[in-house]
Amino acid sequence: MRLILLGPPGAGKGTQAQFLMEKFNIPQLSTGDMLRAAIAAETELGLKVKDMIARGDLVPDEIVVGIISDRIDEDDCANGFILDGFPRTTGQAEALGELLEEKGIALDAVVEIRADADILVGRILKRAEENGGARADDNEDVLRNRLEVYEELTAPLVEYYSAKGMLKSVDGMAGIDEVTASIMSALNAD
Ligand code: ADP
Repeated sequence: MRLILLGPPGAGKGTQAQFLMEKFNIPQLSTGDMLRAAIAAETELGLKVKDMIARGDLVPDEIVVGIISDRIDEDDCANGFILDGFPRTTGQAEALGELLEEKGIALDAVVEIRADADILVGRILKRAEENGGARADDNEDVLRNRLEVYEELTAPLVEYYSAKGMLKSVDGMAGIDEVTASIMSALNAD
């Protein structure tokens, strides 16, 4: 099973990805996690992207496309994978289409978790508080920026994948288990 999880920050992509990983025995590939790991390890790449991430801006397409392309080649992706936080721009989606074609594999579906921006700000700030203080990219101004970036650059992917007949949309404002059930039924996997 090869999936993309699409949805604004705080929509619950990470939570649903955890479930899908176990259900299908496939890894979650989160570009956000990979970039944060690079920052923590103070690699050259990490130093390059640190400030962009702290502002809530996107990092350049070629960086994340390169990371994902390499990651998909690893053994644990043989059964499939869940892309979480990638692609985030039309350019990334096009690059992904090309690289999957080169690798001779195809996506099964793109799952959109729909959610309301204002409610999301509240949710994420609460999550940050519970975790004992905001992460660098979890304060309110940065969050609002991230939501704007989502609307401007990422939301067009809904139409992009819908036009390809690959989009499955679920209501992300329902409870966690309900969202999971909607995803399973959208994938005909329940
Ligand atoms: P979330 O907290 O919603 O799970 P992520 O962890 O996916 O957010 O992403 C955190 C930050 O990492 C983004 O705001 C952005 O700066 C950077 N980032 C992650 N994935 C991408 C991507 N595909 N393209 C560009 N920037 C990205």
